[in-house]
Amino acid sequence: MQKFAFSEGRRGQLSVIAVATVFILVATVLARLVAVSINTLTTTADAIDDGRARHATAGALQSLRKQLGATLRDNAYWDDAFEQINSDARVDWTVENWGSTTADYPLYDTAIVVDSHNLPVIAYRNGMPMDVPPRQFFNSFEPLLNAARRAGSSDPVPVHFAHSSAGTALIGAAAIQPFERDPSSKPEDFYVLVFAKHITPQVVAEVSENVNIAGLSLDAYPIPGRLEAMLTDVIGNRVAVFTWPSEAPGTKSYAMVRGDLQAAGAVLALFLCGIGAAGAVTVRNLKASESRSRYKALHDALTGLLNRAGLLESIARESAEANSNDVDIKLHFIDLDGFKAVNDAWGHSVGDDLIVAVAHRLTGALPENAVIARLGGDEFGVVTIENPLLLPAFDVGHQIQVALATVFEIGGRTIEIGASVGVAISPSGKVETGELIRRADIALYRAKDIGRGVIVEFEDSFDDDTNRRAALEAQLRTTLTNGGIDVSFQPLIDARSGAICGVEALARWVTEGGDRIGPDVFIPLAERSGLIDLLGMQVLKKSLEAAASWPDISLAVNVSPLQLKNPRFVKQVTDALALARFDPSRLSIELTEGVLISNPGQARRAIDGLKAAGIKIALDDFGSGFASIGTLRQFGFDRMKVDRSLIVALDHDQNAGAVLHATIALANSLDIPVTAEGIETEAQAQVLRVSGCEALQGYLFSKPISAEQLTDAYFASSGCGRHEDQSAA
Ligand code: C2E
Ligand code: CA
Ligand code: CA
Repeated sequence: MQKFAFSEGRRGQLSVIAVATVFILVATVLARLVAVSINTLTTTADAIDDGRARHATAGALQSLRKQLGATLRDNAYWDDAFEQINSDARVDWTVENWGSTTADYPLYDTAIVVDSHNLPVIAYRNGMPMDVPPRQFFNSFEPLLNAARRAGSSDPVPVHFAHSSAGTALIGAAAIQPFERDPSSKPEDFYVLVFAKHITPQVVAEVSENVNIAGLSLDAYPIPGRLEAMLTDVIGNRVAVFTWPSEAPGTKSYAMVRGDLQAAGAVLALFLCGIGAAGAVTVRNLKASESRSRYKALHDALTGLLNRAGLLESIARESAEANSNDVDIKLHFIDLDGFKAVNDAWGHSVGDDLIVAVAHRLTGALPENAVIARLGGDEFGVVTIENPLLLPAFDVGHQIQVALATVFEIGGRTIEIGASVGVAISPSGKVETGELIRRADIALYRAKDIGRGVIVEFEDSFDDDTNRRAALEAQLRTTLTNGGIDVSFQPLIDARSGAICGVEALARWVTEGGDRIGPDVFIPLAERSGLIDLLGMQVLKKSLEAAASWPDISLAVNVSPLQLKNPRFVKQVTDALALARFDPSRLSIELTEGVLISNPGQARRAIDGLKAAGIKIALDDFGSGFASIGTLRQFGFDRMKVDRSLIVALDHDQNAGAVLHATIALANSLDIPVTAEGIETEAQAQVLRVSGCEALQGYLFSKPISAEQLTDAYFASSGCGRHEDQSAA
């Protein structure tokens, strides 16, 4: 369950990290794609517009050339012009038609006519004769003339750019000839007409306007960062360049939206940061909740110590470490003695406070490296590491007992408890965790079985015992199912008359294998394995059956404190009495004092119920524990049975007689008759008779015997009499 919760938490954590990572990656890739796309768009738009501008400028230059070429063709391939140029009127005619036109003509500003020797006939510029010879004014003038003479009438008229003394000019030349050219005519004999148009700022402005390019200028050299269109001469060399700034519409558009894009980018970045932060917070929360639930899963809520799962985990961890360091692990299981009584007497909140106080004691008293856990109820576990080569400075089991031996002050109450401790050792951590726990459990069980305040270390032989006990338990179960528990009867003798006045029923068990198992073994076994109710009722019924045939003597039956826990106990007893038609006042139930202390309420209810049915109650084994005469009266006991230990003491303890005497006298003063058990000698019997004991029981009179033997010995002939010949059961 908890494991599931862990893996669930971890899975959640991983998926959050994964989703956040994927999200951030995708967002980053998208942002990058957008940036690249914007850049591509911008540069492509810029490039397209640059191309358009270059194309338009080149087109404008081309049309300038074509225009000049066409003008030249119109003027040179002209019958009239050919006639006039070859007449004496040539100078006047050419000045009038071409030279004076240069004054304010948009198509050309310079007009030159040369003869076959390339000598100028006229040379006019801006309406005036030129003061510099044309070949000095224009460079590469001569090659242009040659080209013009070479060109056929259908060839394009050569038009190029050239340097002139006035700047950069578009210059073209055509041989003056009739419209229909005489094929026999020689080009070198032709006069040649030259027109030139200077690229003035006005021309530049016109081009700029025509091609719709702002910032166009005529420059000698290309200018870095500006677009250009080359103006070339007749042999293709650069004369000048048109340059202009790139319109860069993409860049401009980008500049217009850059603010928005940056804002969007900022929002995206913020968004990503938000996701990252949210992811981090979620992961932290998940981690925190995981460690919280992990803490909860491994710790005891009341004391804050580790719980059983926590202890298991640390044993596994310490085992691995012990294995590599070659040291031993010692596991101690602690059970508080008398805790249940505290709980019963003062309630669970005092019990809880006591548990917390015990936890503090243990934490304070034990070495710092000891792992302490609360396993539930009043059970604790302690793990220590011990180097087998070194003698331990302290025995931890002993330390635990010392720590818990001092009284606890809780809510103004002084509470005394003790501890039973079971110990199991795992040499070099090699004993598997579950097995180590089992061994410590068995050792603790032993310790509790022996009595309070005992430390027991596990031994391999315990396992044999455990197995034997399990086998015995199975056998007892079978025996009980088959009604195979026998009952022996030990007579009670009237102290004054010496006659039999009652019997005590004592359970007997002979296994199928023929082994006699003592009640000191099988009664606790039945109590532990939940068979005591069955056993108790079987003994009661068999006893009632046997005793019914005997004359008016009492029948004493032993009852385990555990039987009183059964709410139907009283009813079962009265039913059995009714079934056997047995007078309830002849039946005496023997209880030991333990139940009065451990569960007084329960004892009182059962005692009251039994007494109400007319049944007598006897306090068994008086003097072996702490019960006082007051207890007898408090619970309304009808009889007291003095324990054999007080009788045995008569033989070696000088005070014993006086103690016994006072005890019996006190009981008698309260009208509580006394039976003495375990009488083996006449001397003992004598002391008790003198002390006022009403009934005597012991080997001196008879061992426990079978119902038949008892009938034969006491009731076969006549009346009650003292039986001399005792036969053992
Ligand atoms: P108990 O009730 O004190 O029984 C008396 C025990 O003392 C019996 O032991 C009896 O055999 C023994 N005894 C009697 N006279 C003498 C004597 O002169 N000398 C010595 N040394 N011993 C004597 P037993 O039968 O072994 O029973 C032991 C205990 O087992 C009983 O102690 C009783 O507490 C318990 N017990 C026996 N039968 C039952 C039963 O049916 N139900 C329950 N709940 N307990 C039973
Ligand atoms: Ca008894
Ligand atoms: Ca007894």
